[in-house]
Amino acid sequence: MKNFFKLDKPTFSFEIFPPKGSGELSQIFATVDALASLDPDLISVTYGAGGTSRENTAEIASRIQRDYAIPALAHLTCVGSTRGEMRATLDSLRERGIQNILAMRGDIGDEGTKDFKHASDLITFINENYDFHIFAACYPEKHIEAYSMQQDLEYLKAKCDCGVDVLISQLFFDNRFFYSFRDSARRLGVTTRIEAGIMPITSPSQISRMVSMCGASVPEAVQKIIRAYGHNAMAMREAGIAYATNQIIELLAEGVDGIHLYTMNQPDIAKRICENIRGVLYSLRVKRG
Ligand code: FAD
Repeated sequence: MKNFFKLDKPTFSFEIFPPKGSGELSQIFATVDALASLDPDLISVTYGAGGTSRENTAEIASRIQRDYAIPALAHLTCVGSTRGEMRATLDSLRERGIQNILAMRGDIGDEGTKDFKHASDLITFINENYDFHIFAACYPEKHIEAYSMQQDLEYLKAKCDCGVDVLISQLFFDNRFFYSFRDSARRLGVTTRIEAGIMPITSPSQISRMVSMCGASVPEAVQKIIRAYGHNAMAMREAGIAYATNQIIELLAEGVDGIHLYTMNQPDIAKRICENIRGVLYSLRVKRG
């Protein structure tokens, strides 16, 4: 299996989500089959995001490693958990051979927080008791609850100081937010590698759902695409693939540490994007290697 941490920059990874409820896993492994054929550096599996199952994250991540020899990243949130519950979850991830965890707080619901108030509490807990590689979330347009970008960046620095190996960013549609965020984080002393999270736009409803969930701004260029092609699923999909491709090519040219593609379990879209960027990714890896 590749060692994600020894790869030449830049890396290219995928995110998938488990089925809702305790649903059938055959569909998700058809998706993993297709994504694995694109030779990603890592595949991450979400945890309860958008109402999807939490139970299957560990199972899917461990099978990605075991059956496909691709490094897997298990997402994990700590909101609403006690230390005992978190220990049981982490023990089970370790028993399954998981090595990489995306350690997050999660969204605060009615139950509020319990033993872990912030992702940094979980990260400290993991580093004190386990030897997982730790990934954490970051937000180029600031986290939706944060009072200001500066405050969010200071908490990010504190989070990284607890011991984070890799940051993965929230989605964004305007690369300038990412550059400005990355430069500010570096100025504050954040040295952790930062992967850019890219979500191809595929429909107007998907955009409005994402925007209301994470607060990403929708630039005029994307609004134009929605106005022109939003009524035609095929045209919208093509435009979304082209837009994400351009975002990625520019990010790579700007020296991004890595691209994390939110695949939305649509390997056909991931495949098209991979085909579009394969040449530039290869040339950069050879140049920087
Ligand atoms: P934190 O880092 O704890 O930050 C949350 C807020 O608290 C921020 O506003 C921050 O500024 C503030 N803060 C941080 N530390 C402190 C402190 N010490 N004192 C006061 N304020 C502080 N959610 C899921 O449920 N499942 C998933 O699988 C999932 N995957 C994700 C993957 C990525 C790449 C990203 C970017 C997000 C993902 N999320 C997922 C969403 C995430 O759970 C939410 O954004 C959540 O609201 C914040 O989690 P966090 O780990 O970033 O929190």
